[in-house]
Amino acid sequence: RDTQVQEYINKVFNKIKQRDPNQAEFHQAVYTIFKSITEVLKKNPIYMEQNILERITEPERLISFRVPWVDDNGNVHVNRGYRVQFNSALGPYKGGLRFHPSVNESIIKFLGFEQIFKNALTGQSIGGGKGGADFDPKGKSDGEIMRFCQSYMNELVRYIGPDTDVPAGDIGVGAREIGYLFGQYKKIKGNFEAGVLTGKGLSYGGSLARKEATGYGVIYFVREMLNDYGDNLEGKRVIISGSGNVSIYAMEKAIELGAKVIACSDSNGYIYEENGIDLETIKRIKEVEQNSIEDYLQEHPLATYADDSSQIWNIPCDIALPCATQNELNGDAANNLIKNGVQLIAEGANMPSTTDAIEAFLANNILFGPAKAVNAGGVAVSSLEMAQNSSRTAWSFEEVDSQLQKIMKKIYHDSIQACGDENTKSNNLLKGATIAGFTRVADAMIAQGIT
Ligand code: GLU
Repeated sequence: RDTQVQEYINKVFNKIKQRDPNQAEFHQAVYTIFKSITEVLKKNPIYMEQNILERITEPERLISFRVPWVDDNGNVHVNRGYRVQFNSALGPYKGGLRFHPSVNESIIKFLGFEQIFKNALTGQSIGGGKGGADFDPKGKSDGEIMRFCQSYMNELVRYIGPDTDVPAGDIGVGAREIGYLFGQYKKIKGNFEAGVLTGKGLSYGGSLARKEATGYGVIYFVREMLNDYGDNLEGKRVIISGSGNVSIYAMEKAIELGAKVIACSDSNGYIYEENGIDLETIKRIKEVEQNSIEDYLQEHPLATYADDSSQIWNIPCDIALPCATQNELNGDAANNLIKNGVQLIAEGANMPSTTDAIEAFLANNILFGPAKAVNAGGVAVSSLEMAQNSSRTAWSFEEVDSQLQKIMKKIYHDSIQACGDENTKSNNLLKGATIAGFTRVADAMIAQGIT
């Protein structure tokens, strides 16, 4: 059966590549999943009999649409919007919207595909989806952002709903954008359907701790990883790439638990401060002023700035947390980290490590936490937001945070358990998280018949 399974995997993978040859990121995500589930397919012939691999890699629906909008000077622009409704075996499609010039079908499909398994891991009843647009929010006025969001929703409205598909934020989409999107949805539908979007403002149905959830969740997960080896975050030198929502709240929790965050970055460059970065300054620059991280030097002359963010991985550290974007950490960066003695990598962003980087970490037996487990805290709390919305209640910060901690702990232990014992200290979570997520979705698909 071994060769039969391998042939089946190859056949499906080749078909995917042939059908959409220009979707490198999607192929990369599929490859990583397929690699982790070979043994599961061998043990469970039903997955092959039911052709689960071909069914799970083909989105249930992929929508692409025109988003016209008018800038402040009266010029008319057109962007392309997307929503992939990838898999609804476990619940309504759930996943963020990304506004970034790099967005295309491949990016949306890789994100949506990963989201299926991430959402399954949370143990919540949510399917996988993702969306966005190739719109660049950088340098746009508030009015331009609002008009873009309204135009985007004018089309998206017909595909979403609290029991159908529930978008949230991602890169380029935060509380402000969710507010404009929600306002337009409400205007068109004429109903206040709080559960149609998550990451909302607190005054109109948002959840406490949603803003912090992804970043805090990353650190709660890292805490579990270290704990298994009798270790903790106290005194650890940590590098966290990015300075967006995930990165900022990962820094906050890491510092609270005694770690020293020595570097972070934005798309232009990185800052490094050996004595530990001052988070309040970063928050002000990024959340309020929305300026370049280079401004940090004005108040912190001991810090250094370099204008190539990819070089952040040359700094020696104990823990590296890529929290910026896909493929930000390549094989060379991985080898530098390893050479400088890194102990642990955990992925706060989606698919931040290239295939080469992952191979290097595994070959050197470095503790590795994969994105779909590590950054699941955000979407997990989104699901808690949906629960609060449908029961018309609001929980305290402590209540949400304690549920988040429980969920991250469970994801860790479910993943470790699912990987079985033939695996190494380094690849156990990578395999285990995929197996745990995949099995839950595949079993639900089988139970629901071929639809
Ligand atoms: N964009 C986040 C993610 O990648 C959150 C999605 C959500 O809350 O629905 O998981």
